[in-house]
Amino acid sequence: MHPPVVIVGAGAAGLFAAAHLAGLGRPVIVLERGDRPARKVLAAGGARCNFTNDRSPEGMLSALPTAARRFLKPAMYELPSEALRRWFAERGVPSVVEDRRCVFPSSGRSRDVVEAMLAAARQAGADVRTGVACRGVRVEDGHVAAVRTDDGDLPAAAVLLACGGPAAPHLGGTDAGLGLLADLGHRLVPVRPGLTPLLADDPLLRPLQGITFEAVRLRLARHAVEGPALCAHFGLTGPAALDMSLAVDTLPANIVMSLSASCTADDVESCLVVPRGGHGPVRLSTALGQWLPRRVAAQVMQSLGIAPDMTLSRLTQADRRAVVRCVTGHPIRVTGLGDWPLAMVTVGGGALGDVEPRTMRSRKVRGLYVAGELLDVAGPTGGWNLHGAMATGLLAARAIRADLAQS
Ligand SMILES: Cc1cc2nc3c(=O)[nH]c(=O)nc-3n(C[C@H](O)[C@H](O)[C@H](O)COP(=O)(O)OP(=O)(O)OC[C@H]3O[C@@H](n4cnc5c(N)ncnc54)[C@H](O)[C@@H]3O)c2cc1C
Repeated sequence: MHPPVVIVGAGAAGLFAAAHLAGLGRPVIVLERGDRPARKVLAAGGARCNFTNDRSPEGMLSALPTAARRFLKPAMYELPSEALRRWFAERGVPSVVEDRRCVFPSSGRSRDVVEAMLAAARQAGADVRTGVACRGVRVEDGHVAAVRTDDGDLPAAAVLLACGGPAAPHLGGTDAGLGLLADLGHRLVPVRPGLTPLLADDPLLRPLQGITFEAVRLRLARHAVEGPALCAHFGLTGPAALDMSLAVDTLPANIVMSLSASCTADDVESCLVVPRGGHGPVRLSTALGQWLPRRVAAQVMQSLGIAPDMTLSRLTQADRRAVVRCVTGHPIRVTGLGDWPLAMVTVGGGALGDVEPRTMRSRKVRGLYVAGELLDVAGPTGGWNLHGAMATGLLAARAIRADLAQS
């Protein structure tokens, strides 16, 4: 009997890899330390699972930092969004495109995505074992030889580490995979919570708790993101804030917020000019209403000490400038980031230089492969992270197949 391929972690990367190892001629065992597989996938997208984004590979790659973009290029071209959607559709999970080109299963149930991956993995002959943690990987002569578990060693011809990261510990997030990687000689990029709220006690936003902005623009130095945002008691959350958290690597961070992504300073400036031939006085709150929700416009005025019934004709030049600055360049001092329980992904992880981007092969140990969030490849909200996990899982499966065929 040939020793099995052992996949560590039954999450998005591990299950997708297992599903692509059919007909290997040797057992495939997936070890999952939790009591059920893919808990993060089940929780993803508010349990609706935004598993990809309706963009070309180039479009998806362009939203990533340079190193992750280079590393994920082969994976994203090997599994474009439409191919991933087709794969699920062929397994009874058609999908729909929603706001911001996010793709969800048409059923609106993440369970369908997990069940399709599990069924495909089992159909491919994989034995998914829950409640079994990998404690280490034994290496002999530079090649993986076995996986250590509490019940003893499991011989292995190849090992795929797909353990995810420490984000969302209540959903099984753990740094166990980072420890395994480090023990095997892989370098680690220090980790921190990502896709997590921005903590700020901001006088403009504080009274706006519960308000959702349809689309804001946030800037930190040369990095800019756009999207919905939600004011919360702790600061700012929602997709734009979560995406910005990926770029906040030192605190405090001085972020600049445009309260409406669709208007420039010139747009706001020109709407504050008294219209020619207008009928009667125009209120400032009405003029701002074309860009901002009413409550936000009122709060902008209050924060600047402008009377609620102010009209454009009475507005001073200084107040006009202050309004434009507040609407299109409001400074927010971010003093913290939501901690691991609030984070959706892990920033940092296995150093990309130690893994081959076309195959997910370890450059340190033969027979070892690494995929998914365990690597230093966090992407924005909108389906990037699940897609990246599955696409790297696919490349690993292909490489395992090719490598074992030659051995
Ligand atoms: C609340 C929430 C919502 C999210 N929503 C979205 C979304 O809508 N779209 C999106 O693209 N991304 C989303 N993400 C991110 C996405 O879920 C992850 O990036 C993705 O699941 C990573 O896949 P993975 O396979 O690398 O890791 P995971 O899916 O985390 O799977 C890793 C598995 O390995 C297991 N494991 C770890 N160590 C060991 C060990 N030593 N032995 C055995 N098993 C082990 C873990 O228990 C886990 O089941 C969300 C995350 C969270 C927390």
